[in-house]
Amino acid sequence: MVKAIVGANWGDEGKGKITDMMAREADIVIRFQGGANAGHTIVNNYGKFALHTLPSGVFYDHITSVIGNGVALNIPLLFQEIRSIVDRNVPEPRILVSNRAQIVMPYHILFDQYEEERLGGKSFGSTKSGIAPFYSDKYAKIGFQVSELFDEEILQEKVRRVCEMKNVLLEHLYHKPLIDPDELLATLHEYRDMVEPYVCDVSAFLDKALKEGKTILLEGQLGTLKDPDHGIYPMVTSSSTLAAYGAIGAGFAPYEISQIVTVCKAYSSAVGAGAFVSELFGEEAEELRRRGGDGGEYGATTGRPRRVGWFDCVASRYGCRLQGTTDVAFTVLDVLGYLDEIPVCVGYEIDGEVTTDFPVTSRLQKAKPVFETLPGWKCGIRGIRKYEELPENCRNYIEFIEKKIGYPITMVSNGPGRDDIIYRESPLQPIS
Ligand code: GDP
Repeated sequence: MVKAIVGANWGDEGKGKITDMMAREADIVIRFQGGANAGHTIVNNYGKFALHTLPSGVFYDHITSVIGNGVALNIPLLFQEIRSIVDRNVPEPRILVSNRAQIVMPYHILFDQYEEERLGGKSFGSTKSGIAPFYSDKYAKIGFQVSELFDEEILQEKVRRVCEMKNVLLEHLYHKPLIDPDELLATLHEYRDMVEPYVCDVSAFLDKALKEGKTILLEGQLGTLKDPDHGIYPMVTSSSTLAAYGAIGAGFAPYEISQIVTVCKAYSSAVGAGAFVSELFGEEAEELRRRGGDGGEYGATTGRPRRVGWFDCVASRYGCRLQGTTDVAFTVLDVLGYLDEIPVCVGYEIDGEVTTDFPVTSRLQKAKPVFETLPGWKCGIRGIRKYEELPENCRNYIEFIEKKIGYPITMVSNGPGRDDIIYRESPLQPIS
């Protein structure tokens, strides 16, 4: 059985926490897209960790952690991350890396920086991890697959060919130092030696695991609104953030995915540029940012302050729909206990008309939020484990949002820890 854990919005919804929690009853956790450009923050009995490449199941010794073919694999970063958790007493995790995953090359990271510099004020707010140049090369068919590290003849020929192309751009477009093919080859030999013990035919491994009745979690990075097709293009990431892509980025049949848990945060946050209709500014924003998440809304990879805003029903309903949501995990609700009243964005006004359908980017830029305001509950809710024990106004907030988004909220997260979770029976029909 495969369960996906994905984001409804701009990312940072708390997928890492939900994955870590659900991994207790799973066998395999897979990253199927993205790279080390975003992070998941996890708080468990070993401490607080920011993971960028490793799947969020690495803290359990019963879990096999898989880097799927859809991932942008930064080999040295993967190894740094393994070392950093083992150094903090986490048992050596069992890790498999797809032989079809492609490698983030040192020049991808450089090109990412150079391009942002070249674009100046018109930049995309890239995290400069090489992700966009990596995926461009993958689809231009000049990427390096892990399997190619083990065929010296192919590797040498390709390094020479790719350096020729890259050096033209470096010389004439960016005016930067050229790549030395011999140096690059030596780096790739180091990568080969690092990754060799973990390389696996992942789709064959998963096929066997599924036949044995194993439970597999797909862990998404970012959220629907950062999907290159269905998100706020071009302010998106370069790989699909949708659960459907899990089948491709891991390598199994799409009908194997039987549960899609879409994580929605109880308010909005986003990093990077792009339209954000329910965004807050000034004092109010500062307060929510400071109180938000677990220790403030600052990027797990970049440390950048996240933009924050009220919950956006238009974006979240769309985000859940594109994911194919069977369950919503509603997270970080405990943070809102300080508010007297809580505005919720229930519609967008565009050119004088109100819509609840999420528009394409050119129209999104014109959208103004339409708010309804709900009373706050003015108390802490951490430690509560039963839905009925939540304050009435808090339940009303959850149920109001559930109706507006139209997908069942079956989990409410009221703290960053594994046990900070309230399971709930939703009056909405489970979608399966
Ligand atoms: P991800 O990228 O979706 O995994 O999200 P991040 O890990 O970047 O951001 C979520 C932040 O919220 C992290 O700091 C989590 O520890 C924290 N978090 C997750 N769930 C909860 C919750 O229910 N309450 C609080 N206060 N923090 C939470």
